[in-house]
Amino acid sequence: MKQPLDRYAVTGHPIGHSKSPYIHRWFAAETGQGIRYDAIPSARDGFEEVVRRFRADGGLGLNVTLPFKEEACALADVRTPRAELAGAANTLSFLPDGTVHGDNTDGVGLIRDLRINHGVALAGRRILMIGAGGAARGVLPALVDERPRRLTVVNRSPERAVSLAARFPAAGVVGCGFGDLRRGDGEVFDIVINATSAGLSGESAPPVPISAFRPGGAAYDMVYATEPTSFLLWSRAAGASLAVDGAGMLVEQGAESFRLWRGVRPPTRRVIAALRAELVRGG
Ligand code: NAP
Repeated sequence: MKQPLDRYAVTGHPIGHSKSPYIHRWFAAETGQGIRYDAIPSARDGFEEVVRRFRADGGLGLNVTLPFKEEACALADVRTPRAELAGAANTLSFLPDGTVHGDNTDGVGLIRDLRINHGVALAGRRILMIGAGGAARGVLPALVDERPRRLTVVNRSPERAVSLAARFPAAGVVGCGFGDLRRGDGEVFDIVINATSAGLSGESAPPVPISAFRPGGAAYDMVYATEPTSFLLWSRAAGASLAVDGAGMLVEQGAESFRLWRGVRPPTRRVIAALRAELVRGG
């Protein structure tokens, strides 16, 4: 008799737009692993119930997206240090002994995309991260690990940036509002990362002064789209030598989840190219 496939899924609210099933099916094909990966919708107050049912059906691992990453972290019995520091988990593993293991792979995804796919070194650089929501929380531990010279978090609601920065006292992370950047001491950043949900085409870019961006620096938008986002257009106007969106990060964070679940890291280059083509097709 044919063995049922090992089951994985992504859940969020909404979830219809998620590219994770597409990406993980590619990973399965690239590695020759027989898995099933679905998108499961969850009501805003229904996350725990989705997890309970998925586990009862024999599910082995779950990716978690907006707005449940904090809930996923709290639900886990065991958390990796990076998930604990972020206070958010995007990957749950259901172990045979009944333990729920929570991890956050967003940071690995961002760093691998920047460093390996785009050749951007982070050590000793001055980094500005725009945004202090779940995505920013998820990647901050990995950015700190890269030992930048300076790491500043700026956010529309400054108090969120300040409290996020305060989670990393030893690393000297600074949190502030956009007004502080404009009034600041003329500090210039080598790498600017947009971790806000603002700025899809048509919206205006976050109000960072152009003078805060070193000409020739690198700009990274975690948002991914077929058209350049307003943040990427802004960074090109500011003289960025590299301006890329978050499609590579999406694939790389998924690859890290796949590695945690399956013990093998899938190659990502062809998957990123396939995802870009899929986005252009409007899939
Ligand atoms: P979130 O928790 O809702 O946080 C949203 C962030 O955006 C907050 O910092 C918020 O500021 C800011 N923001 C929203 N509208 C704004 C505006 N008009 N002007 C300035 N700031 C604004 O969302 P998230 O989970 O952090 O996700 C952020 C983005 O990252 C989303 O687009 C998501 O798709 C993307 N993402 C991509 C990947 C990837 O793999 N590529 C992974 C994770 C997330 P306030 O605090 O002031 O509200």
